[in-house]
Amino acid sequence: MSFKQFESIFYPAFDFYGLTDWTLEKMPKNVNIKRKSKKSTLANEWFFKSHNGQSIFHCPKCAQQTKENDEPVWSSVYTTILFRARYSEEKDKDGVMWGSGRIQMNIFEQGCQTCGTYSTGHFDEDGICFALYWLHIWILKTFYSVEIYDDNDHDRPQNGVLSRGPHNTHLCKACQSGWCKIPIDTTSNETAKLFDATLTQYVGWYINKQLGGIKASLSRFLAIDPNCASSRILAAAIGLFSMSRPSTLAHV
Ligand SMILES: [Zn+2]
Ligand SMILES: [Zn+2]
Repeated sequence: MSFKQFESIFYPAFDFYGLTDWTLEKMPKNVNIKRKSKKSTLANEWFFKSHNGQSIFHCPKCAQQTKENDEPVWSSVYTTILFRARYSEEKDKDGVMWGSGRIQMNIFEQGCQTCGTYSTGHFDEDGICFALYWLHIWILKTFYSVEIYDDNDHDRPQNGVLSRGPHNTHLCKACQSGWCKIPIDTTSNETAKLFDATLTQYVGWYINKQLGGIKASLSRFLAIDPNCASSRILAAAIGLFSMSRPSTLAHV
């Protein structure tokens, strides 16, 4: 489990995004994550979001049986992370409202195509940044009514390398739970290559739609790095907008 890696990037990233009220933790094992049961209601106040990204898997069982030059490693762009989030506010003894947001995450395991042993994929830093980028877009939409673009349409897997064949839905726990974003009508990994736009393009869209009037110099910074750095700068940009507080959502 690469939770520690996520955690170490989460806090600096969410600081940059201006979302300093939020904490990240592992999702407890007893949470029912079958998608059917996961319609968010005001009663439980948890909202769910899944993200598919690329990670590398390493089968511990096959590793014991193979030679060094035949590593039991594969990658999947349909490695699914399930996040759930909740925001609450409490009054302190002086009557001041304090808000705090909790995010929990779970990375779905996949089974080895040779022996069926399940393991968790490991994301690289770019993959983690990308996941956290989409997480914060969703947090802004869900809890602050700030919609930059629809994460349901645009949060898709990036092109994969090192693939070991088509995505096997029978060996993917996310598929079995209903959260994997593999298109239902195809089992080909070609679909992974249909990732239709780069983050750079999103950034361009963002500037056009949201930042038209704001300092032109921002776009120069945004062009520097299509991955993590620019999304962090985006976060700073988002901080320029005033946000409605989550309580307005919670009481609807
Ligand atoms: Zn194996
Ligand atoms: Zn799947």
